Amino acid sequence: MNKPAHLMGGLTAGIAASKYIIPIVSHNGLVDGMVSIGAVICGALLGSLLPDIDHRNSYIGRKLKIASFIISKTLGHRSVVHTPLVIFAFSALLFSFSNGLTGPVQDLSNSFVIGLSSGMWSHLLLDMMTKRGIPLLYPLTKKSFRIAAFKGGGIGDTIAITGCTILIFFILLDFAGIYSI
Ligand SMILES: [Zn+2]
Repeated sequence: MNKPAHLMGGLTAGIAASKYIIPIVSHNGLVDGMVSIGAVICGALLGSLLPDIDHRNSYIGRKLKIASFIISKTLGHRSVVHTPLVIFAFSALLFSFSNGLTGPVQDLSNSFVIGLSSGMWSHLLLDMMTKRGIPLLYPLTKKSFRIAAFKGGGIGDTIAITGCTILIFFILLDFAGIYSI
């Protein structure tokens, strides 16, 4: 999948994740709800692109050249960085760091990490729709798994963007209490 499809996936995941932080924010009363939701969405958009840091020609790879060079040379594209295990471990690490913070900064940081993690999971899901798939069960096996076999940048991206747009519509209806998903 290309950048626009991943960004749409991240946006969808971020909006969906926002639902779960609203009660936390209103309970703490420390950070304005809109700022927290903004942090979730920003995190989700970044997270939706982040796994492709292992690909030097990707958007994020070109932005973070040195990190991308090291990761792509040592791990290769669509390897360890594209696995649920690493995404889970990386998210857990960020959460534990974020929980060590205090006050409003912690609330903001937690919101950003929730978004970042959601975005990275959306990336894996969308990459599973491509021919190359992802090493879903790493380190048990390096075999790639997929749920569809689209080529990057083709009709699969269009389907993903359309599907995400429809999903966002229903999530917002859910937020408004008009429809329950
Ligand atoms: Zn990818």
